[in-house]
Amino acid sequence: MDSPPSPSAMIGAPGTAAQRHVLDPGGGLGDWLAAQGQPAWRGRVIWRWLHGRRAASFADMTDLPRSLRAGLEAEFRIWTTTVALHRRADDGTEKLLLQLADGQRIECVLLRDGERRTVCISSQVGCAMGCVFCASGIDGVVRNLTTGEIVEQLLRLALLLPAGERLSHIVVMGMGEPLANLDRLLPALAEAQDAEGLGISQRRITVSTVGLPPAIDRLAALDPGYHLAVSLHAADDELRTRLVPVNKAIGLAEVMAAADRYWEASGRRLTFEYVLLGRENDSVEDARRLVRLLGGRAALVNVIPYNAVAGMPWREPTPAARDAFLDVLRSSGVNVQVRRRKGARIDAACGQLRRIAATP
Ligand code: SAH
Repeated sequence: MDSPPSPSAMIGAPGTAAQRHVLDPGGGLGDWLAAQGQPAWRGRVIWRWLHGRRAASFADMTDLPRSLRAGLEAEFRIWTTTVALHRRADDGTEKLLLQLADGQRIECVLLRDGERRTVCISSQVGCAMGCVFCASGIDGVVRNLTTGEIVEQLLRLALLLPAGERLSHIVVMGMGEPLANLDRLLPALAEAQDAEGLGISQRRITVSTVGLPPAIDRLAALDPGYHLAVSLHAADDELRTRLVPVNKAIGLAEVMAAADRYWEASGRRLTFEYVLLGRENDSVEDARRLVRLLGGRAALVNVIPYNAVAGMPWREPTPAARDAFLDVLRSSGVNVQVRRRKGARIDAACGQLRRIAATP
């Protein structure tokens, strides 16, 4: 079922290019307030309105002097994106196709699961990793998202919730390779944790990576409190390089070693993701190889049955193949979770996010 854009998602037109982005920490709000003779705490008040109190426009910030609101209106913009498409699935999943100020497009998703309100956000326009089964990398990467554009996804999705509901989890599993854009991603995730803003605890934030060892080490050194998910998809180098081309220059041994170092730094259980592609990487032998690769690590394996991408030759695993694969893992003592499919009917499931909506 599709629905028209909700009023809340449409609120707030983007401003002119000369205006600065108030959601970007580098947008210059603090300096501007100082130049206006405003006390510094006003910056925090504005921040709280946007992040914690769901203001969609400066006009909503009723405790600011009217003249200040007018000045902000002229100088800054809250939203740099427009909602090009808002789709809603029967299972409660909602997807926003956002048009960025330069005309590029990204997608982000709100998932409802019991009490959980999880957002799946993008980190780049497109993706350079080239995983052969994923829609996001079909045309390569165009650019990194700015911190403000990442924050904007969070706030736009939060605005879809009724009053009284809050976002509870963030997964950086949308378009792009988050570890290739850490410098812009980390400030956005730090803001999401602020108790006066979205207040999402770091333990509920998952960063998913194709497995870039130097960047995993960097994250471990900078801030290892995030939950890290490493996309494996194969347990031997030949198959992994075929499915995940960046593996060629890296190799599984390096990926696993970097994952172990992150685990040591964070003390948090690692997750490995494994997309099951029918008759490609779903045999019992593949499962046994995966058990050997994991070698008794206390990790969780997140098995993701392939979600169809238009024009791609891959198949979903048959239920029998999937169950046999899972049986091998479970009987070997591996912790396994099968990712339930959400939003597939609106192309909002894993791997289906792309720059242009395939089925507008
Ligand atoms: N670049 C990050 C985030 C990718 S999206 C990464 O590689 O981890 C999150 C997960 O969805 C990844 O494991 C990704 O490989 C997987 N995925 C990609 N395309 C998919 C598809 N068509 N069906 C199911 N999962 C897919």
